[in-house]
Amino acid sequence: MKFDTIIVGGGHAGAEAAAAAARLGAKTLLATHKFSTLGEMSCNPAIGGIGKGHLVREIDALDGLMGKVADAASIQFRLLNRSKGPAVRGPRAQADRALYRKAMQAALSAQPNLTIREVAVEDLLTQPDGKTIRGIVTATGEEILAPCVVLTTGTFLQGLIHRGEEKTPAGRHGEAPALGLSKTLNRLGFPLGRLKTGTPPRLDGSTIDWSSLEMQPADVEPYFFSTLTTTCANRQIQCGVTYTSARAHEVIRANLHRAPMYSGQIKGTGPRYCPSIEDKVVRFAEKERHQIFLEPEGLDDDTIYPNGISTSLPVEVQDEFVRAIPGLEKVQFIRHGYAIEYDFVDPRELLPTLETRRAPGLFLAGQINGTTGYEEAAGQGLIAGLNAALKACNAEAFTLDRAQAYIGVMIDDLVTRGAPEPYRMFTSRAEYRLSLRADNADQRLTPLGISIGCVGEERAEKFTLRMEALESARGLVRALSATPHELAEERIEVNQDGARRSALDLLSYPEITLSDLKNIWPQ
Ligand code: FAD
Repeated sequence: MKFDTIIVGGGHAGAEAAAAAARLGAKTLLATHKFSTLGEMSCNPAIGGIGKGHLVREIDALDGLMGKVADAASIQFRLLNRSKGPAVRGPRAQADRALYRKAMQAALSAQPNLTIREVAVEDLLTQPDGKTIRGIVTATGEEILAPCVVLTTGTFLQGLIHRGEEKTPAGRHGEAPALGLSKTLNRLGFPLGRLKTGTPPRLDGSTIDWSSLEMQPADVEPYFFSTLTTTCANRQIQCGVTYTSARAHEVIRANLHRAPMYSGQIKGTGPRYCPSIEDKVVRFAEKERHQIFLEPEGLDDDTIYPNGISTSLPVEVQDEFVRAIPGLEKVQFIRHGYAIEYDFVDPRELLPTLETRRAPGLFLAGQINGTTGYEEAAGQGLIAGLNAALKACNAEAFTLDRAQAYIGVMIDDLVTRGAPEPYRMFTSRAEYRLSLRADNADQRLTPLGISIGCVGEERAEKFTLRMEALESARGLVRALSATPHELAEERIEVNQDGARRSALDLLSYPEITLSDLKNIWPQ
């Protein structure tokens, strides 16, 4: 069997890579362990946030899947940093896990040029030079050929789960690790490192005392990820807010020696910006309490994700400290938290197309490159998938630079600086953040996507209409003008210098809003 591109792994990077390659017309195979885990959210049931929301909007601007799927599955839209400037506002959606999987599986199944197969990939085939990629070998020994292969194996490479003193080889809770591909990467000479991440317990919402908790509602006006989304697909829910207590901190402190991170059992480096609760209690010892969001995992699901207490302490210690948190005194656990350690490849091995220098035709995307987070994985998947397909058809590569996109910032950071710790996106990483806003991602990137052929007709048409409407609105606000005297009559104060000011000039005054101008010029 022969394909133009093969994507290994159907996580957030793999799904985006497979869809992108297929959109460019490449005959694409998505080889992944299980169809049912396409769109699986391994940790928090949410997409977006500060910096991450920008990535999702950029993926959407290039007609990727994540924005549309997150909109279809969202049960709570919130625009973070709403009170701050537009450059740092972060769209976020809490998702119904099952709806997210369902929407992703439907999108991939409907994608022309894409074949999905449930297989475990054990090895890579190379040309006689021992490095140029020729295809993959599955666990049953089947050889499938393609000149370009994208590896997006997430936390599965030599994955090892830790909970207290207990260690279990696994790629994710209840799923086997990938061992063969680590050996292949070693054989090809790639420098591999170890990183770690963790997840909180999952709680039974029917055993939480919600009446004692503060609740946080969704935004009244949802801010969608995709410019193709027009309506809110689901009922919007509230999240609960609680805090750790002095007693919970006491239990954690007394058991630090049993936390794999402190006992030296885990050697990999963890995510600085997503620390475990044991880490927070030690590093921020002066803080009396830490905030916890109690996030429902679905509309018809009582499972609660307690955002803020990722932990790998032993089961009985988790039981004790969690029940010392207000509202959770009688809570029942659905699953306990754990940490996972896994292999990653030093991303300085990569070109900005995400192709490896060492093995031509081999591309890497997602957590395998030392990043953490669904959005970071998806952004890389998109670029790797596009470039694998372009290379397979001998077309020119597609890259984004730091001035064009957050995706460009992330890839530049990775390929030039590596990932000494799990890499996640922040607005502070982008030096051009004033112009790289979430709300102009389409203006920055959709024309580029149209030119390489990865944007479908519906988006291209909608984008053209939006640009025409924007141009006509810009023309109108330039043409309308008033004297200081006329403005004063409408109670808009400017210098009484006799100079006419256009509506566009007036909009640049921080205290003048569009609705003030509506009174003068209803059109
Ligand atoms: P994944 O989503 O892991 O997908 C990998 C896919 O590849 C899977 O479908 C797997 O079945 C498939 N696969 C692997 N090997 C093979 C093979 N040999 N053959 C065929 N298929 C294969 N991110 C955060 O931002 N914050 C957090 O707090 C956080 N905590 C996490 C906690 C845990 C326990 C885990 C597991 C992950 C956590 N993450 C967190 C990370 C987040 O889940 C990942 O960054 C993201 O899912 C990475 O996407 P990916 O596509 O690279 O890999």
